[in-house]
Amino acid sequence: MLGLAEIFYSVQGEGTWTGTPAVFVRLAGCNLACAFCDTDYALRFIASVDDVVRRVRAAGGDCPLVILTGGEPLAQTETPGLIAALQADGRRVHIESNGTIDVELPADVWLTVSPKERLHPAMAARADEVKLIVDGRVPAEWIDAFPAATPIALQPEGNKPANVALAVTAAKERPERLRLSLQTHKFIGVR
Ligand code: SF4
Repeated sequence: MLGLAEIFYSVQGEGTWTGTPAVFVRLAGCNLACAFCDTDYALRFIASVDDVVRRVRAAGGDCPLVILTGGEPLAQTETPGLIAALQADGRRVHIESNGTIDVELPADVWLTVSPKERLHPAMAARADEVKLIVDGRVPAEWIDAFPAATPIALQPEGNKPANVALAVTAAKERPERLRLSLQTHKFIGVR
Protein backbone atom coordinates (compact mmCIF):
# COMPACT_ATOMS: atom_id res chain seq x y z
CA MET A 1 0.00 0.00 0.00
CA LEU A 2 1.04 3.58 -0.62
CA GLY A 3 0.67 6.54 1.73
CA LEU A 4 -0.59 9.64 -0.01
CA ALA A 5 -1.12 13.30 0.72
CA GLU A 6 -3.08 14.30 -2.40
CA ILE A 7 -3.75 13.67 -6.08
CA PHE A 8 -4.70 16.61 -8.28
CA TYR A 9 -4.70 17.74 -11.92
CA SER A 10 -2.83 20.93 -12.76
CA VAL A 11 0.07 22.19 -14.88
CA GLN A 12 3.75 21.78 -14.12
CA GLY A 13 4.84 25.23 -12.99
CA GLU A 14 8.59 24.71 -12.71
CA GLY A 15 11.62 23.59 -14.65
CA THR A 16 12.02 22.11 -18.12
CA TRP A 17 8.39 21.00 -18.43
CA THR A 18 6.81 24.29 -17.32
CA GLY A 19 3.29 24.67 -18.68
CA THR A 20 2.70 20.96 -19.30
CA PRO A 21 -0.60 19.61 -17.94
CA ALA A 22 -0.01 16.83 -15.44
CA VAL A 23 -1.65 14.81 -12.72
CA PHE A 24 0.31 15.28 -9.50
CA VAL A 25 0.54 12.39 -7.07
CA ARG A 26 1.93 13.66 -3.79
CA LEU A 27 3.21 10.74 -1.74
CA ALA A 28 3.15 11.21 1.99
CA GLY A 29 6.23 11.45 4.18
CA CYS A 30 9.85 12.42 3.69
CA ASN A 31 13.15 10.97 4.84
CA LEU A 32 14.50 14.49 5.51
CA ALA A 33 13.15 17.24 7.73
CA CYS A 34 14.40 20.48 6.17
CA ALA A 35 13.82 23.50 8.39
CA PHE A 36 12.59 25.60 5.46
CA CYS A 37 10.18 22.97 4.10
CA ASP A 38 6.83 24.49 3.15
CA THR A 39 5.29 21.38 1.55
CA ASP A 40 2.35 19.71 3.25
CA TYR A 41 3.12 16.04 2.72
CA ALA A 42 1.12 14.73 5.69
CA LEU A 43 -0.51 11.33 5.27
CA ARG A 44 -4.18 11.76 4.29
CA PHE A 45 -5.04 8.39 2.82
CA ILE A 46 -3.67 4.97 1.99
CA ALA A 47 -4.29 3.33 -1.37
CA SER A 48 -3.16 0.35 -3.40
CA VAL A 49 -1.17 0.83 -6.59
CA ASP A 50 -4.25 -0.01 -8.67
CA ASP A 51 -6.36 2.44 -6.69
CA VAL A 52 -3.84 5.23 -7.32
CA VAL A 53 -3.91 4.44 -11.05
CA ARG A 54 -7.73 4.72 -10.94
CA ARG A 55 -7.60 7.97 -8.99
CA VAL A 56 -5.13 9.43 -11.49
CA ARG A 57 -7.59 8.64 -14.28
CA ALA A 58 -10.47 10.11 -12.28
CA ALA A 59 -8.47 13.32 -11.74
CA GLY A 60 -6.93 13.83 -15.15
CA GLY A 61 -8.58 11.50 -17.68
CA ASP A 62 -6.12 10.60 -20.43
CA CYS A 63 -3.54 13.27 -19.50
CA PRO A 64 -0.25 11.72 -20.65
CA LEU A 65 1.90 13.03 -17.81
CA VAL A 66 1.90 11.98 -14.15
CA ILE A 67 4.31 13.62 -11.70
CA LEU A 68 5.20 11.75 -8.53
CA THR A 69 6.22 14.20 -5.85
CA GLY A 70 6.27 14.48 -2.08
CA GLY A 71 7.64 14.59 0.48
CA GLU A 72 10.06 12.08 -0.95
CA PRO A 73 8.31 9.79 -3.45
CA LEU A 74 11.20 7.31 -3.54
CA ALA A 75 10.99 6.70 0.22
CA GLN A 76 8.07 4.30 -0.28
CA THR A 77 8.87 0.74 -1.30
CA GLU A 78 5.86 0.45 -3.64
CA THR A 79 6.78 3.49 -5.73
CA PRO A 80 8.58 1.38 -8.41
CA GLY A 81 5.41 -0.72 -8.71
CA LEU A 82 3.34 2.45 -9.06
CA ILE A 83 5.64 3.69 -11.83
CA ALA A 84 5.23 0.42 -13.73
CA ALA A 85 1.44 0.46 -13.31
CA LEU A 86 1.15 4.06 -14.48
CA GLN A 87 3.30 3.31 -17.52
CA ALA A 88 1.12 0.27 -18.27
CA ASP A 89 -1.85 2.66 -18.17
CA GLY A 90 -0.19 4.78 -20.86
CA ARG A 91 1.36 7.53 -18.74
CA ARG A 92 4.74 9.21 -18.88
CA VAL A 93 6.10 9.41 -15.36
CA HIS A 94 8.17 12.21 -13.87
CA ILE A 95 9.63 12.09 -10.37
CA GLU A 96 10.60 14.98 -8.13
CA SER A 97 13.09 13.73 -5.55
CA ASN A 98 15.61 15.02 -3.03
CA GLY A 99 18.11 12.56 -4.51
CA THR A 100 19.06 10.82 -1.27
CA ILE A 101 17.64 7.34 -1.96
CA ASP A 102 19.21 5.17 -4.64
CA VAL A 103 16.36 3.60 -6.61
CA GLU A 104 16.77 2.12 -10.08
CA LEU A 105 14.31 3.83 -12.41
CA PRO A 106 13.21 2.94 -15.94
CA ALA A 107 15.19 4.90 -18.54
CA ASP A 108 12.10 6.77 -19.75
CA VAL A 109 11.22 8.15 -16.31
CA TRP A 110 12.18 11.83 -16.01
CA LEU A 111 13.99 12.52 -12.74
CA THR A 112 14.17 15.97 -11.20
CA VAL A 113 16.55 16.14 -8.26
CA SER A 114 16.47 18.98 -5.77
CA PRO A 115 19.33 18.33 -3.36
CA LYS A 116 19.01 19.33 0.26
CA GLU A 117 21.35 18.22 3.05
CA ARG A 118 22.88 15.22 1.23
CA LEU A 119 22.83 13.54 -2.16
CA HIS A 120 23.33 9.97 -3.39
CA PRO A 121 25.93 9.97 -6.23
CA ALA A 122 23.90 7.46 -8.27
CA MET A 123 20.88 9.77 -8.22
CA ALA A 124 23.05 12.75 -9.11
CA ALA A 125 24.30 10.81 -12.13
CA ARG A 126 20.75 9.73 -13.07
CA ALA A 127 19.11 13.17 -12.80
CA ASP A 128 17.56 14.63 -15.96
CA GLU A 129 17.38 18.09 -14.41
CA VAL A 130 18.39 19.71 -11.16
CA LYS A 131 16.43 22.25 -9.16
CA LEU A 132 18.38 24.37 -6.68
CA ILE A 133 16.30 26.47 -4.31
CA VAL A 134 17.65 30.01 -3.91
CA ASP A 135 16.67 31.28 -0.48
CA GLY A 136 18.96 34.10 0.59
CA ARG A 137 21.88 32.41 -1.19
CA VAL A 138 22.64 30.33 -4.25
CA PRO A 139 23.54 26.78 -3.10
CA ALA A 140 26.40 26.62 -5.59
CA GLU A 141 28.12 23.84 -3.66
CA TRP A 142 25.82 21.32 -5.38
CA ILE A 143 26.59 22.30 -8.96
CA ASP A 144 29.68 20.16 -9.44
CA ALA A 145 27.97 17.11 -7.92
CA PHE A 146 26.07 16.72 -11.20
CA PRO A 147 27.31 15.82 -14.69
CA ALA A 148 28.20 18.86 -16.79
CA ALA A 149 25.41 18.15 -19.30
CA THR A 150 22.62 18.06 -16.70
CA PRO A 151 20.53 21.25 -16.79
CA ILE A 152 20.52 23.12 -13.48
CA ALA A 153 17.64 25.45 -12.69
CA LEU A 154 17.89 28.08 -9.97
CA GLN A 155 14.50 28.47 -8.37
CA PRO A 156 13.94 31.56 -6.21
CA GLU A 157 12.07 30.58 -3.05
CA GLY A 158 8.59 32.06 -3.09
CA ASN A 159 9.43 34.04 -6.26
CA LYS A 160 10.71 36.69 -3.82
CA PRO A 161 12.43 39.62 -5.63
CA ALA A 162 15.65 39.33 -3.59
CA ASN A 163 15.89 35.62 -4.40
CA VAL A 164 15.06 36.26 -8.06
CA ALA A 165 17.86 38.86 -8.21
CA LEU A 166 20.35 36.40 -6.71
CA ALA A 167 19.32 33.67 -9.17
CA VAL A 168 19.46 35.95 -12.21
CA THR A 169 22.92 37.24 -11.25
CA ALA A 170 24.23 33.69 -10.73
CA ALA A 171 22.73 32.45 -14.02
CA LYS A 172 24.29 35.34 -15.95
CA GLU A 173 27.67 34.57 -14.39
CA ARG A 174 27.50 30.89 -15.46
CA PRO A 175 25.20 30.90 -18.52
CA GLU A 176 26.61 27.61 -19.80
CA ARG A 177 25.51 25.85 -16.62
CA LEU A 178 22.62 27.66 -14.96
CA ARG A 179 19.15 28.86 -15.84
CA LEU A 180 16.28 30.54 -14.02
CA SER A 181 13.11 28.65 -13.06
CA LEU A 182 10.21 30.60 -11.59
CA GLN A 183 7.23 29.03 -9.85
CA THR A 184 4.88 30.08 -12.64
CA HIS A 185 1.86 28.26 -11.17
CA LYS A 186 1.91 30.78 -8.35
CA PHE A 187 1.47 33.64 -10.86
CA ILE A 188 -1.79 32.13 -12.05
CA GLY A 189 -3.03 30.97 -8.69
CA VAL A 190 -2.99 27.22 -9.22
CA ARG A 191 -1.29 24.52 -7.24
S1 SF4 B 1 13.38 17.06 1.17
FE1 SF4 B 1 11.82 18.44 0.34
S2 SF4 B 1 9.85 17.62 1.06
FE2 SF4 B 1 11.48 16.66 2.32
S3 SF4 B 1 11.61 17.97 4.15
FE3 SF4 B 1 13.14 18.71 2.67
S4 SF4 B 1 12.11 20.36 1.50
FE4 SF4 B 1 10.51 19.16 2.57
